[in-house]
Amino acid sequence: MLENNKILLATSNAGKLKEFKRMFANFEIKSQGELGIEEPIEDGLTFLENALIKARHGAEKSGMFSVADDSGIVVPGLNFAPGIYSARYAGEGASDLDNRNKIIEELNKLNLESLPAYYVCVLVGVHSADDPMPIFSSGEIHGDISIEASGEGGFGYDKLFYPYGYSISMATMDPNEKNRISHRAIATNIFLEKLENIRAK
Ligand code: IMP
Repeated sequence: MLENNKILLATSNAGKLKEFKRMFANFEIKSQGELGIEEPIEDGLTFLENALIKARHGAEKSGMFSVADDSGIVVPGLNFAPGIYSARYAGEGASDLDNRNKIIEELNKLNLESLPAYYVCVLVGVHSADDPMPIFSSGEIHGDISIEASGEGGFGYDKLFYPYGYSISMATMDPNEKNRISHRAIATNIFLEKLENIRAK
């Protein structure tokens, strides 16, 4: 249950956690890692299923209101890869660098310097593992994925992702700006509005 503004963020991804802590600034955030909760097996076929799996698992293990995001980058010109497999595009246990190199390899195979791509974030919140009414939201940000890496900020594919309307990569962008325009920010704003509506009833 959501008590005392406490939320479990059902993720162990340090990059996501850092961004979420800023976005959920009015809540007391606990992470799965802090509570020693292991990650569940993500065997869904959609962002939505995987987010629900993670949120339920978090709620079951912690007894807290749990929020999970499933996110990734989708490249339509690469058959919509890596999509839900973004964290393990280069194989199980792949690092962010391995995954970026795999994207560069795929672009090189096609003799392309870049392709249109978008980040997706789906958020799911549950009050308990058997909550019949999960809260959910989603957000996207579109741009180009490029073989040219730049910037030191962000995580994952940010060094290769150039959002439309900007001439810099997501990793070069000021973190406050990323947190204002990102797929995660869009999904979080919608999510928080839904959460407030439910709590006001
Ligand atoms: P998940 O933990 O299964 O949701 O996997 C998310 C993966 O998508 C991350 O490990 C990153 O590779 C990628 N990703 C998601 N959001 C972002 C972002 O904001 N920047 C860069 N990469 C991201």
